[in-house]
Amino acid sequence: MSTSIFSRIIDREIPADIVLETDRMIAFRDIAPKAAVHILVVPKTEDYANVVELAAGDPQLLAELVATAQQIAEEHANGEFRLIFNTGPSSGQTVFHVHAHVLSGALEEGSLGR
Ligand code: 5GP
Repeated sequence: MSTSIFSRIIDREIPADIVLETDRMIAFRDIAPKAAVHILVVPKTEDYANVVELAAGDPQLLAELVATAQQIAEEHANGEFRLIFNTGPSSGQTVFHVHAHVLSGALEEGSLGR
């Protein structure tokens, strides 16, 4: 079974700018930010490849992810945020370990493709 790049960050095999961690969730800055605040929120489990699988398999964990996004937006911006789940390669998903992009900080409609 392969280990995702995000699991390697969780295991501290790869460095990352971690902004929040709980027993079930980790959040760190995207290596290629697309906004002033661009933080990835990642459930620690590798059981779900995308948000559809997560919603079906563990809706409570999805709710925790959304609450984590809110907390991050309050701590790093004005509490407002854009939450993006790329789902499938043709949508731009490159890491198949479920994660959300939290984008915040002076976003304008149509300013971001992802
Ligand atoms: P996706 O394209 O799957 O929705 O999002 C994957 C995201 O992970 C991308 O925005 C990419 O920049 C980010 N990413 C990929 N590898 C790393 C890494 O090693 N460290 C960090 N911090 N972000 C990464």
